[in-house]
Amino acid sequence: MSFVTHLQCPKCGVKYELAANPIFCETDGCEARIDVHYDYTRLKEVISKKVLKKRPLSVWSYFELLPINDRSNIITLGEGGTPLLRSQRLAEHLGLRELYIKDETRNPTWSFKDRPITVGVSKAKEHRATTLASASSGNAAAALAAYCARAGFSCYCFVPDSAPMGKIAQLLLYGAKVVRLRGLHKGDDPTVKLLREACKSYGWTPCPSFGPFNPYQAEGPKTLAYEIIEQLNWNVPDVAYVQVGAGGLLGGQWRGFTDFNTLGLVEKCPRMLAVQAAGCAPLVQAFHTDQDPFKIIPCDSPHSVAEGLCDPLPWDGDLALGAVRESKGSAIAVDDDAILHAQKLLAKYEGIFAEPTGVTGLAGLIDQLESGAQDPSEVILIEATGGGLKDQDVVIQRVTMPPVIDPDLQQLQNALKLQN
Ligand SMILES: *Cc1c(COP(=O)(O)O)cnc(C)c1O
Repeated sequence: MSFVTHLQCPKCGVKYELAANPIFCETDGCEARIDVHYDYTRLKEVISKKVLKKRPLSVWSYFELLPINDRSNIITLGEGGTPLLRSQRLAEHLGLRELYIKDETRNPTWSFKDRPITVGVSKAKEHRATTLASASSGNAAAALAAYCARAGFSCYCFVPDSAPMGKIAQLLLYGAKVVRLRGLHKGDDPTVKLLREACKSYGWTPCPSFGPFNPYQAEGPKTLAYEIIEQLNWNVPDVAYVQVGAGGLLGGQWRGFTDFNTLGLVEKCPRMLAVQAAGCAPLVQAFHTDQDPFKIIPCDSPHSVAEGLCDPLPWDGDLALGAVRESKGSAIAVDDDAILHAQKLLAKYEGIFAEPTGVTGLAGLIDQLESGAQDPSEVILIEATGGGLKDQDVVIQRVTMPPVIDPDLQQLQNALKLQN
């Protein structure tokens, strides 16, 4: 039994029953995400601090707040329940009073994308779909391939030609069919184009991490906010710095924070700071030029070391932009040097090796501290959303290989001098 009342398109207003299993908004030419709505009055009767405290921290501990009817359909690899670390050394280095790091690199496929995908694949099982497809630069596809392997489903991944070999190898090993596409340009993402056409022609279920292509997976990132609130002992940070590609990570978490606020479990919500890579910042542009959330102007030629943030069109930009505006947050762009610097700091001061995509929020925080826009005495949250081993090339290019020496103290000293 689910607590979903209905699904509704925020753009054209059309409503759907959960049992109808809509994937797209079917109004002609609408193409918006359809949002899942819940019965908060009934939820209040079953969800309380006491009830939640008894459950382990994990995505599926929030079953009532997810759009699945029957628990037996859950496809899980043990996602979520990741640590919220209070930063010591990095906080001190940056002059911060209270900094928290949600370490999402520890998910089953080493990125937060396991949260949306476990929900999307479970929902597919509930509706007896067995062939799923994704358009992704890597992490969402890796998650989909892994969860499809777990479920015994077929998986097709459309990836851009720029996707690193490490990520593609992972997909192939999970048994997915990988299709590499050339030409990410002019706001027209070829991976998304072919995903749409193939799903329509072959009856596959699309399950990328974009709301307009699958409204169920879009509910997964809410659980990040739920966990953070529990880990802060039923408090929220003052501000959350979140990296934005398509916008589902930020937008989904905002829903999570507002859910717990609506349920009376916390008294406020954090300000949401959207951070994008300067080479692909359509949401930042939209925020500062007051664009219509449903008509965000796409980025012409996305490029960044934060490869996972290079979505020319933020598919969930309406949700993310709404979150930034409603929470009185802001949106900022950071360049590749700032992202690589953040990657190094997080590894060096906290022992967390994250990929550039996964540290862009931290780069945004540093930017705001330097410009004086961020008060260092606030409770600040950053999220390491993807593991560093996923994109080793970027690190390898920036370090020097230590010399090989003989077991001799003089040679040791010389070798160590080179690493200062
Ligand atoms: C996908 C991704 C993001 C961005 O999430 P969106 O929902 O596309 O905004 C951030 N970090 C990592 C590691 C990702 O894989």
